[in-house]
Amino acid sequence: MTMNSEDKHSTMQRAHMDTNPNTEAGASVVDQLGRPLRDLRISVTDQCNFRCRYCMPEEIFGADYPFLQEDKLLSFDEIERLARLFVSIGVKKLRITGGEPLLRRNLPQLIQQLASIQGVEDIALTTNGSLLKRHAHDLKKAGLQRVAVSLDSLNDKTFGAINGRGFKTKPVLEGIEAAKEAGLQVKVNMVVQRGVNDQDILPMAHYFFEKGHILRFIEFMDVGNANKWRLDQVVPSKEIQEMIHKELPLEPLESNYTGEVAKRYRYKGTDKEVGFISSVTQTFCSTCTRARISADGTLYTCLFASQGTDLREQLRSDTSDQKLISFIQTTWNKREDRYSELRSNDTIKKDRKVEMSHIGG
Ligand code: SAM
Ligand code: SF4
Ligand code: SF4
Repeated sequence: MTMNSEDKHSTMQRAHMDTNPNTEAGASVVDQLGRPLRDLRISVTDQCNFRCRYCMPEEIFGADYPFLQEDKLLSFDEIERLARLFVSIGVKKLRITGGEPLLRRNLPQLIQQLASIQGVEDIALTTNGSLLKRHAHDLKKAGLQRVAVSLDSLNDKTFGAINGRGFKTKPVLEGIEAAKEAGLQVKVNMVVQRGVNDQDILPMAHYFFEKGHILRFIEFMDVGNANKWRLDQVVPSKEIQEMIHKELPLEPLESNYTGEVAKRYRYKGTDKEVGFISSVTQTFCSTCTRARISADGTLYTCLFASQGTDLREQLRSDTSDQKLISFIQTTWNKREDRYSELRSNDTIKKDRKVEMSHIGG
């Protein structure tokens, strides 16, 4: 007997419920492809002090750009409430992002509020690192566990051109060290673009090998509409891995958990690691358990979504927790997103996608 898609879906959902620790609370939720909701990325601002060419090019995000007014941003209490509700239906990990999240005033206060939520296993932050030195200690004290610092080159000229504002690498490198000294787990993320910073792959690998920080190479993605992405600008992870292997031999490692986006390798004969996030050449939609909330409280179920669902209005009316939970569950339950798997399919390319700086990667 063959199953129709509805039967298949409810079978997947049942199978998931049977093994899900949240089943007793009756609250867990899976999407149309059987993927549970486990991670929540929260953008706390759409503003940034950088103008990375691939994310917020100056000619689009210039002085006249209509960034969100203060009253449109979710408050810390609204973010905390949402996070609590998401955790009650299965989210375990929170990641704070932006824009540049360290531009949001009193961020450690938010971290402290999130750390107080029962059931949160992990709180991480993604940052460009330029302001990290100043805040690392307070963030750690507030309960932050991990930080991912974005750095695309060690060369000031290249870095300044990529970040669009001539920022030098020194503050970022100091931020990385300050985060480590504060006791945060640190990873460094490098987006590689052919003809822009591929010459920096080996210097970055050597530098962070010596420093003992995990470096992850990220394939340049067609997020948003502003960055004029072309496939020939993507340097496939395999190529990068082979390049490094010739100088610093690598061996593959097992994933830490199902759905880990980075493929991990160890430098042979050491316990030092490097990772590859191959969102273009080796997609990972089938295990994608991530939801995203933009700084204005819109829920997105995919990085490449063209539309989100407003939560702010409901937070600001007297909608009950239970109603909000059912709304989020229904939204996740309807989710069918798998953009990266379908990237080469022409029909999905036509929609306008949400900008990366709006939802934070
Ligand atoms: N401002 C913070 C930062 O740069 O880390 C957080 C927000 S930023 C949008 C999050 C991550 O997205 C950064 O690591 C950035 O390099 C990455 N990113 C932005 N645009 C990208 C693109 N087109 N392809 C791949 N990664 C991108
Ligand atoms: Fe800012 Fe991060 Fe986007 Fe660069 S990648 S412009 S640092 S939000
Ligand atoms: Fe997840 Fe969408 Fe990325 Fe696929 S394309 S991994 S569904 S965010």
